[in-house]
Amino acid sequence: MSRPSTADLVAAVPALASYLRPATLLHPYAATPDPRASRIGGPALWPAGEPWPQCTAEHLCDEYRDVSAADRAIWEGIDRAVRERARAGGRAHVVTWAEAAEQERIMDGGDWIDLVGWRTHRTVPERPAAATAMVPLAHLRAEDAPHLPWPEGADRLQVLWCPNDHDGLQGERYYHGPNVGLHWQRAADLAPAAPPAPRRSEDRYLPTPCALRPERLADLPDQDELPEAVHDAAEEFARRHGLEYHRALSCAEGWKAGGWPSWHSTDLVPVDCGCGARMVHLLTVDSGGDPGLSVGRFGELRVFVCPTDLSHPVGLNIQ
Ligand SMILES: [Zn+2]
Ligand SMILES: [Zn+2]
Repeated sequence: MSRPSTADLVAAVPALASYLRPATLLHPYAATPDPRASRIGGPALWPAGEPWPQCTAEHLCDEYRDVSAADRAIWEGIDRAVRERARAGGRAHVVTWAEAAEQERIMDGGDWIDLVGWRTHRTVPERPAAATAMVPLAHLRAEDAPHLPWPEGADRLQVLWCPNDHDGLQGERYYHGPNVGLHWQRAADLAPAAPPAPRRSEDRYLPTPCALRPERLADLPDQDELPEAVHDAAEEFARRHGLEYHRALSCAEGWKAGGWPSWHSTDLVPVDCGCGARMVHLLTVDSGGDPGLSVGRFGELRVFVCPTDLSHPVGLNIQ
């Protein structure tokens, strides 16, 4: 019994047909990319005379506060008391309520304490707030992903990102990661550019330049996006072939333009635009492999666009 294709599955479960979405798997591999080809990372192209985009969102930075000699003595006293109680047969490493309250006071809102240098750490908004240059993340030609929502006349999509973490880019919706900008452009307008280096950056957000081996396919959604009866029928078909729908037949993995996002580590998180429309998956940025990025805890960053108006702010989600 050969492994069934998406087409075999849809033939067996016709209700899935309306859920098929075209996608392009990008399959990046380390190579000096051709500036005329789709790619991850540089070389940079930009319309002559137009300024290179800057990220003006709030950047976070590390702040350390010294622990006073008196508080250091208190902290060391607590550590000693905990060890002595453990030796005397108590439960290991248990602090009393009073000790926990003292430690909390010394932490002073920090998220960790350096017990060698005796300072507490916290992440705070950078003051004064300052812009930093975006960096090229992906460059896609329309012919490699014709199913994307290309505006009239545009034949290049440049995805730039700010290689730093940001909180609060998306209001109520939780997000902690890079800021992303989409630029739908015309190849005829683009010229070699020398963008300024970002003023600050995290190494894990600076891609190693890669060429792509685009592969077009039809993608099916995560089970959370399907009516239960349709998902049951799909799972039944998969089981008959010794497979699982969510592992083998839906949400193709890796760097992907179009198609469906998977919801493998959380249940479906609706990504709605400020205008009320349910946003559509545009791009998955994957961790690891030749581009050498790490988003979230070695996860995937998914970029969503508004189906009504591409100029509405992108939706971002990390799994
Ligand atoms: Zn930024
Ligand atoms: Zn919208």
